[in-house]
Amino acid sequence: MSVTKKLSTRKRIALIAHDHKKEEMSQWAIFNKHVLARHELFATGTTGKMVEEALDRPVKKFLSGPLGGDQQIGSLIATGDIDIVIFFWDPMEAQPHDTDVKALLRLCAVWNIPMACDRSTADFIITSPFMHEEYEALIPDYNSYLKRNISSK
Ligand code: PGA
Repeated sequence: MSVTKKLSTRKRIALIAHDHKKEEMSQWAIFNKHVLARHELFATGTTGKMVEEALDRPVKKFLSGPLGGDQQIGSLIATGDIDIVIFFWDPMEAQPHDTDVKALLRLCAVWNIPMACDRSTADFIITSPFMHEEYEALIPDYNSYLKRNISSK
């Protein structure tokens, strides 16, 4: 069984870009400035600073990704406080915080959070009618999983 959660018309969007992808994130944000203006933006430190400058608007910034920023965003996903993740990660270069990157991908799957890892997917998400409407998101119910784990101990 699943429960649902209503996402408001104003979505909470997390933005993260690895260094070789920051320019692409900046261009994408500028191109979508008018849509993004209707939503709340969160970001890892350096990405957030760059998007703030590109859009000339405030972004809620966390630590830089390698210093724990990805995990801070992960924690907000786990508590239901992020609705969408746009994460331009670099498939061509290993990162010192690869484990954090993987953890973030996993958490989005755990909590059924839309996540774009490339520009095309980000374009599809940002142009979705759901961006401007309330959306009833399915939240997987992990109660039976928890009970199974407890009873087997
Ligand atoms: P940054 O972090 O925005 O601080 O560069 C992104 C990342 O590498 O996860």
